[in-house]
Amino acid sequence: MNRINKGVQKACNDDGTRFKKPWEAVSNQASLQHLSQSALQESEERYRSLVENSLSAIIVYKQEEILFANQKFFDIFGYDPQELPHLVVDDILAPEVVEDISELRRRRLAGEIEPTSTYESKGKRKNGEIFEMEISVCVVSFRGETCCMASLADISKRKQAEEALRESESRFRNLFDLSPQAIALTELETGKIIDVNDKLCELSKYSKDELIGRTTTELGLYSVEDRQRFIEALKTKGELHGLEMDFVIKDGSIIHTLLFSKIIKISGNPLILTIIFDMTDRKRLEGQLQHAQRMEAIGTLAGGIAHDFNNLLMAIQGNASLILSDMDDTHPWYEYLRNIERLVKSGAKLTGQLLGYARKGKYELKPINLNQIVKETADTFGSARKEITIHKHLAQDLFAVEADQGQIEQVLLNLYVNAADAMPAGGDFFITTENTTHWQMQSKAYRAKPGNYVLLKVVDTGVGMDKKTVDRIFDPFFTTKQMGRGTGLGLASVYGIVKAHGGYIDVESERNRGTTFSIYLPATEKKVERSVERPKKHTEGAETILLVDDEEMILQVGTIMLEKLGYSVLGAKSGQAALDIYREEKDRIDLVILDMIMPNMGGGDTYDRLKEINPAVKVLLSSGYSIDGQAEDILNRGCNGFIQKPFTVEQLSMKIREILGEPLK
Ligand code: ADP
Ligand code: MG
Repeated sequence: MNRINKGVQKACNDDGTRFKKPWEAVSNQASLQHLSQSALQESEERYRSLVENSLSAIIVYKQEEILFANQKFFDIFGYDPQELPHLVVDDILAPEVVEDISELRRRRLAGEIEPTSTYESKGKRKNGEIFEMEISVCVVSFRGETCCMASLADISKRKQAEEALRESESRFRNLFDLSPQAIALTELETGKIIDVNDKLCELSKYSKDELIGRTTTELGLYSVEDRQRFIEALKTKGELHGLEMDFVIKDGSIIHTLLFSKIIKISGNPLILTIIFDMTDRKRLEGQLQHAQRMEAIGTLAGGIAHDFNNLLMAIQGNASLILSDMDDTHPWYEYLRNIERLVKSGAKLTGQLLGYARKGKYELKPINLNQIVKETADTFGSARKEITIHKHLAQDLFAVEADQGQIEQVLLNLYVNAADAMPAGGDFFITTENTTHWQMQSKAYRAKPGNYVLLKVVDTGVGMDKKTVDRIFDPFFTTKQMGRGTGLGLASVYGIVKAHGGYIDVESERNRGTTFSIYLPATEKKVERSVERPKKHTEGAETILLVDDEEMILQVGTIMLEKLGYSVLGAKSGQAALDIYREEKDRIDLVILDMIMPNMGGGDTYDRLKEINPAVKVLLSSGYSIDGQAEDILNRGCNGFIQKPFTVEQLSMKIREILGEPLK
């Protein structure tokens, strides 16, 4: 206290106010000795006003005694001028810096370090508040003694602003870097790229180094005209909310984007901040949806045509069969009639493909083992096409799939034929089956329904396809084959059948690199039934059959067919007529052959009414067509079997015996 008091006395004038002339230290310089008294005074005034008006606190101190302080010092530190005599340097420093600063002071006064320096430290106000301050110190001569003069600036506001800026910059940086959308910062005038995030690199396939520093037009990302369009829109609206723009990326492909842009100023420079929203996938999905809708419309048409055709074929087939059954194979017309039968078969194959495409041929769903069908079909196909080698890798313990065996065979055969066609000089193809789940199908364009799947792959080493072809292969009637060689219905039906079974199909191909078809079919928990050995030859019978069909022709042909086989036949031209007859003759009728699509009362309703009359009624459903699962529905209600038109006498006889059992001898 004593020491301080001494300092105070030393530091104060008689009136207790502080010294007025700390600057005399400076004015003591030799050069100033030449100045006249008045000039000296003027100079002192200048310094004085400078010190008093300074925005910083200025103090002069000797060791820790403060000898002088300007008004700003009191403003900043919160002391009253009267308190100055009691103040020491350590009082105005944050406790944690006191030691370091006194060490600096000692060394500075001892001439060990530079006499002037500026650094940041922490001050303490009278109320105890600690704040950031910038200190500029120099050694001066004050009243003939070597002292320190310090200018102390409160920089807490600046620090806070700096901190806030740093925070906002880091927030921006994080947003920029982590954004799931591509972001670019470009110069307004030149289009030069200042910064981009990783997402933009990923999207454009350029590296950061390749992008930054170059202009968008130089890179060919878009044309000069497109940039003008973009800049004009931006300048007139100030901001862009979703301007559609196509970009040419590094590999030359085009991506569709929506741009969200704004002009921002960074360090006074006008820059464009652009968020680039990649629409390529969305556009593709839209395209896919439209395509799917188109396919569905064509499917309905194709299904309708197939139905009518099957009825016609049925009648042609029936007539030919009937004549043939009475004809010796030496007859001059015998071969012609056989030809008619063969042609009807080809026709039926075509309508079968159409129905597959229309997703309307799925009649007999059963849990089946795909390996079994692959083995059978591959063996048959392999023996017919010797130039082709088929390699099978079939998973053991393959999940069962619930499917229509005939349709799955159709799928496989279509794929085999295509694979063989792609290798005209012969070659290898590979069939694999394996168990998988929807988890393994994550990267696909579609979202697979959760569950287990059986994956069937058919891989060939043939000519492959370019992208344009791949895009169209599932379209009905799309073919690259010569007239007569291809119908363009194979893959359309494959697609329809796979979809009708709740499955998915992928294709991968490249010109001259072969083709891979992957088909995923949902697995079932149901046990595979051992398939019953079907009678190979047609067998006759003696039972009574009620034949129901609204088509006169079918009724006629069917009646004769059945009679030839030994059955007694009752015919009905409508559901109502069938019910009337059945009610009368139910004790006599062993089987009803029921057409599914009929005006007024269809097969489904007729079936239900028949069941009301006799719950044990036996019914064989027949159709050229099925309206989405209608046949399946009737079968599920207990109907005994299904036969697809057109059918031959043999097929019909076998179906009948499957239901009625071995004929009585
Ligand atoms: P089609 O075989 O009657 O031409 P598809 O629907 O079966 O009709 O096939 C359509 C087209 O798809 C074929 O014409 C062919 O261009 C192409 N294609 C199908 N499978 C393959 C394959 N394995 N290798 C190369 N091209 C194929
Ligand atoms: Mg084909």
